[in-house]
Amino acid sequence: MLAEIIAIGDELTSGQRLDTNSQWLSRELGLLGIPVRYHTTTCDTLEAGVHAFQIAARRAQVVVATGGLGPTADDLTRDVLAELSGKQLVLSEQALEVITSRFLVRHAVMPESNRRQALFPDGSCPIENPDGTAPGIAVSLPASDGWGDGHGCVVYVLPGVPAEMRRMWNETVSIELKKGKGSKKVLRHRRLKCFGAGESAIEEMLPGLIERGHDPTVGITAHEATITLRISAWADDQDSCMKKIFATENMIREKLGQLVYGEEDDEVEDAAGAALIAASASLATIEAGTAGRVAALFAQAADRRQIGTEPFFRGGLVLPELSLEKPNLIDAAKGVAKSHNASVGMAIGPVRPIGTRQAVDVIVVKDDSVIATEHILGGGGIAMSRAAKSAIDQVRQTLL
Ligand code: ATP
Repeated sequence: MLAEIIAIGDELTSGQRLDTNSQWLSRELGLLGIPVRYHTTTCDTLEAGVHAFQIAARRAQVVVATGGLGPTADDLTRDVLAELSGKQLVLSEQALEVITSRFLVRHAVMPESNRRQALFPDGSCPIENPDGTAPGIAVSLPASDGWGDGHGCVVYVLPGVPAEMRRMWNETVSIELKKGKGSKKVLRHRRLKCFGAGESAIEEMLPGLIERGHDPTVGITAHEATITLRISAWADDQDSCMKKIFATENMIREKLGQLVYGEEDDEVEDAAGAALIAASASLATIEAGTAGRVAALFAQAADRRQIGTEPFFRGGLVLPELSLEKPNLIDAAKGVAKSHNASVGMAIGPVRPIGTRQAVDVIVVKDDSVIATEHILGGGGIAMSRAAKSAIDQVRQTLL
């Protein structure tokens, strides 16, 4: 069984609003074991809507759409469904009563336009909307007309408002799909987070894993020098999925070693913070090229851990760029550790150009050892953020 998602609205196609509904629905369908092959976003016109629904309902057995169920003239999704299914729009007295009562409760007069929301293509089912006036609509398109690639297709349309859509999904649509309409397979994901090597270098270290057809699939994405490996597995049940995922995870960890710093939503500062806590160490920083980012990230990591004990991050000094020269970095790192009563001190020099790229010097002092590293940051506008993360990762690496 395959699914498709359609997001409807001029707001979306004009770029004024990001389509978050499709992302959410895709994940939910995945959890039910129904793979999503396409997302389509259409404007509010009847022609575009009918076209998008016809394509989706021909090749998928489940179509979930959001938006365009409101009372105004540009909310045409019910007309699209009538055209798609070749049925007339008919008034549901029961739905009209529910809509009217919502206005009565608020002591408001129902505008005439809201009657439109009680119109449904003949033979379709309203989907209750406990939080709003627009009921959803479920339409079954028969296999005999070739819908759903000859298996039939069920189309669910929900309101665009995310909170209403989610509740209706949870309370109605997902339950209906679970009742035997979904496939028996389930889909689970796991993310491994890496830092310290580029996307292509990591890909080369994992030969054969990041390839089409590998089971589980392994995807790779990069964001400001943090690399995420996303492992996805289909199986009969959750345990079998996780078994497959952990086998692949072990393989990745073996090959990448300390480049893997965490999982799921972990940031590199969370991993460095955990390493400091595990070593019963504490850190103080002095930054001359990263505008306080290192201190800010460590402070946020400490906040996320909500530790009530002695903090692993004792504080940091932020200096203007270029105010710290490379030869003075060691003294600066030692000095800030001492003044903040920390066992580890770190000094970060200015981000400086080298050819077409940029670099930053980082000194970490711990006990009697001094670890000096020049981090090459690449080009582009994210050098400062990369410099901060590289410095933070150096703390983690030093403590491992
Ligand atoms: P209502 O009658 O409650 O307006 P509707 O089905 O007509 O419901 P829309 O008018 O299309 O919904 O959208 C209502 C609001 O929901 C939009 O202004 C927007 O804020 C949000 N919304 C719509 N579609 C999406 C989407 N795909 N992702 C995120 N938000 C959305």
